[in-house]
Amino acid sequence: MPTYQHFQDLVKAKHLPNSEKIGPCLTCRYWDVEGPRDEALVPNEALCLHPELKKFALIVSGGSGCNVWAKQPGVSQQAEAYAHRGEA
Ligand code: SF4
Repeated sequence: MPTYQHFQDLVKAKHLPNSEKIGPCLTCRYWDVEGPRDEALVPNEALCLHPELKKFALIVSGGSGCNVWAKQPGVSQQAEAYAHRGEA
């Protein structure tokens, strides 16, 4: 599955603060999703539990992302590969 256009646009947005921390919710420790982190979860939606963002009750998909991403330990290599994939 290719990454979504909005995620690609985010990755390219080097003018954003903390652009080096941009990453996808699929591999982020703050994504409150059930089950193992693999590519099948990309379309799933769950809350973002980042301490500074949870007050907004953001519901994000695995293909969403932001610039305060933090790596979830133990994600599959498939999910890691998804994060670095480009558009179709
Ligand atoms: S919105 Fe950001 S902090 Fe929240 S789950 Fe997605 S990447 Fe992580």
